[in-house]
Amino acid sequence: MNQIESLDRLINELSKLPAVGKKTAQRYAYFLLSMNESDVRDFADAIITAKESVHYCKICANFTDKEICDICSRPDKEPIVCVVKEPKDVTALERVRDFKGSYHVLHGVINPLENKGPNDINLRSLLDRVNNEHIQEVIVATNPDVEGEATAMYIANLLKPLGVKVTRIAQGI
Ligand code: ZN
Repeated sequence: MNQIESLDRLINELSKLPAVGKKTAQRYAYFLLSMNESDVRDFADAIITAKESVHYCKICANFTDKEICDICSRPDKEPIVCVVKEPKDVTALERVRDFKGSYHVLHGVINPLENKGPNDINLRSLLDRVNNEHIQEVIVATNPDVEGEATAMYIANLLKPLGVKVTRIAQGI
């Protein structure tokens, strides 16, 4: 059997990507090997550089390479916060909506089956934001599935005592 340790390692690493099985990982590995060396270096460098420079925005927890992301830094920002599950939801909403508020990324939803409770998602800082940023409306845009609905309900109850308007939109894009 022809065992090439470094090739096996590459295939193994690639197969850690979501929705990439062993066969696809092998195909990607062979493709990378067929690229010229400087392209492969650019590829590897893009991963390392992104990993080193991208982190969560201190306010909304969306990805950014600054301390505060561009959306949170908008000077004409309206006192509305749209709550979403993941960073990719921000991208989707920014593309289709003329929204002048900011976002709040939960990084998950409440899911008892996965042992994910309210303390396991980015909820506490939402309360702080509503208090400190004088937020007038919170739009909850989690997915219209069981976990998304349960999370939306939880947020609505959590914010009720603060007297902020809570609106639900089903995020099914
Ligand atoms: Zn932000």
